[in-house]
Amino acid sequence: MFNNKILKVMPYILGVLILILVAVMIITKFGDSKPGQETEMKTDKVVSDLVGEDEAQKDTVNDPSEGTAASPVQDDDGAGLGLIPDKGTPETDPDGTDKPTGDTASTEGSEPETVTEPAPTATPTPVPEELVFEDKDDYIETKNDVNLRVGPSTDTDIVTNLKTGKRLKRTGYNEKWTRIIYEEKECYIYTPLVTGVFEEPSEDGNATGGKSSGTATLSTGVGTSNGHIVCIDPGHQTNGNNDKEPLGPGSSEMKAKVSSGTSGNTTGHPEYKLNLTVSLKLRDELIARGYTVVMTREINDVNLSNAERAKIAADAGAQAFIRIHANSSTDTSVNGVETICMTSDNKYNADLYTSSRKLSDAVLNNVVSNTGAKKRYVWETDTMTGINWAEGPVTILEMGYMSNKDEEEKLLDDDYQNKIVIGIANGIDEFFK
Ligand SMILES: [Zn+2]
Repeated sequence: MFNNKILKVMPYILGVLILILVAVMIITKFGDSKPGQETEMKTDKVVSDLVGEDEAQKDTVNDPSEGTAASPVQDDDGAGLGLIPDKGTPETDPDGTDKPTGDTASTEGSEPETVTEPAPTATPTPVPEELVFEDKDDYIETKNDVNLRVGPSTDTDIVTNLKTGKRLKRTGYNEKWTRIIYEEKECYIYTPLVTGVFEEPSEDGNATGGKSSGTATLSTGVGTSNGHIVCIDPGHQTNGNNDKEPLGPGSSEMKAKVSSGTSGNTTGHPEYKLNLTVSLKLRDELIARGYTVVMTREINDVNLSNAERAKIAADAGAQAFIRIHANSSTDTSVNGVETICMTSDNKYNADLYTSSRKLSDAVLNNVVSNTGAKKRYVWETDTMTGINWAEGPVTILEMGYMSNKDEEEKLLDDDYQNKIVIGIANGIDEFFK
């Protein structure tokens, strides 16, 4: 009987023993996993964090080296102006929380794409980056719908979300983050979401409310790269150069390399200085809108012929070559804006006529609508060396007449210059649409 009992219970005892054995094997297996396996698992995790879902899914082989090669920092245009995400930080998250909706006047190109908070990264407790801030004591205005944060990082807490654009006191600037005061607290906003800089709080004296006055304010900071390259050529230079150069590639017709331009009838202010002043503002505005900008000159005392300027644009691969000039006439009543491009019969680059005409129309229309100046016309001519040597869409903007007293005064006014600049930038945005 006793033996029979043991026989009956035996299967249960065996079952329990097998379970214990299996459990021991599982525990041993985990405690003894090979370092290689763990590394591979971690690498896969990092790769999928970096390349985003779509690409991680395509990567069926799960080979870490291949994953790393699909570098997330690669820029479409290779221009390098785009904000390159730090490894492990989805830095493309600027702090805008909403995309612009149906506002045709807004600067679409500069609005960041990413709208959500960053996904958790591989590092559980990220340390905010060490950033150097330039001291500031002025005011900025924000885009609509931006986050104010306690620190200069998207990993820090949000103080508040501003649903409308606000004017705020600025105490520090860095190309990535701007330090501001909100309700007596120090906060940070992503710099590309700053739309303008002001000397004063808004008109009602309230630094966190009110609309901006009728003045034109330029964008600041560096926008997310939009993949377009623009070359700006501030016309003329301190001293003209009367040496000759061919009017176009292969031409036997020769023309002076570059003249010193006109000057204001009343003030004597030279055109080359005005052209540079406006061009530098345009450079900053376009960079803030995400363009890669190449300048033919950033100082007045250079020696650059018109053909050489066109060469700079061509070498940069500029998709728009914007040449900034001001006009003059012996008839002091003449005023208004015009742009210039080649004719459709141009001997050197007639293939650029359609695009150059489109660029010329876009810039002309937008400068006129933004300044209220008189619209003249697009002048089509094959007599401009810097146009004939162009290898991409080109326009000359004649901003107005320095020979006309009223227009000269406007052209030398800081705020009117800003209106011109915003007009040009809007025209370029339209051209690339
Ligand atoms: Zn000129």
